[in-house]
Amino acid sequence: MRKPVIAGNWKMYKTLAEAKEFALQLKEQQVDGTKVDAVICAPPLFLDQLVEATKGSFVSIGAQTMHEEKEGAYTGEVSGHQLQDLGVEYVVLGHSERRQYFNETDESVNKKAKAAFENNLTPIICVGETLEQREQNETETIVSNQVMAAIEGLTEEQLIQSIIAYEPIWAIGTGKTATADDANDVCQAIRETILDGYGEEVANSVRIQYGGSVKPENIVELLSKEHIDGALVGGASLQVDSFVKLLEAGA
Ligand code: PEP
Repeated sequence: MRKPVIAGNWKMYKTLAEAKEFALQLKEQQVDGTKVDAVICAPPLFLDQLVEATKGSFVSIGAQTMHEEKEGAYTGEVSGHQLQDLGVEYVVLGHSERRQYFNETDESVNKKAKAAFENNLTPIICVGETLEQREQNETETIVSNQVMAAIEGLTEEQLIQSIIAYEPIWAIGTGKTATADDANDVCQAIRETILDGYGEEVANSVRIQYGGSVKPENIVELLSKEHIDGALVGGASLQVDSFVKLLEAGA
């Protein structure tokens, strides 16, 4: 049995006061952390205080990207080493917005995934197709190639701990969700790709999230599918009540 993981991606939203208030309210909620992993991926400015605010609770904190080098002259960047030092546990890699606006590529995602493990961070590796690629029936090929490139050179142990987020680009922030069956088919294709490359134990262990306009109204059906082990959530993770509903669906 794979434990569901529900991760909120706050993107570039919230002030520090709002972030802290969210964390204080969230950790008071009755969520069974043995049944679901709850992660908030926040802007780097808030990570330190969110780690402090959620210490000892069911909530873990993640970053939204990182640099692959430990340190250096990379103005504006944050390293895995620095994230680990703060007590951050997860990092989103290759989100489609990072790929589109900030030049993250399969190759850099792979370097970052390796650096994440060197710093005890669990990578949430995002993959997904454009609408045009879906319409040309290229989804499974595109997504499988992204996954293989991103995980190249990771050890089996690292792969078992990795999280893949299948996020069709046309469904992110648009209100359009893939049907649960379509999302499950792509997640299954990802698992089969991993099975072919790395065998059964790895394929059966790796957790695959769906992301793209997930909300309390559609999460139950998505999570009922065999190959969907959680969700990466933007908009619906910004309010405590809707995020808690998502966690309850996973628990
Ligand atoms: C995301 O940011 O990864 C995402 C899926 O956003 P939303 O849930 O708002 O579509």
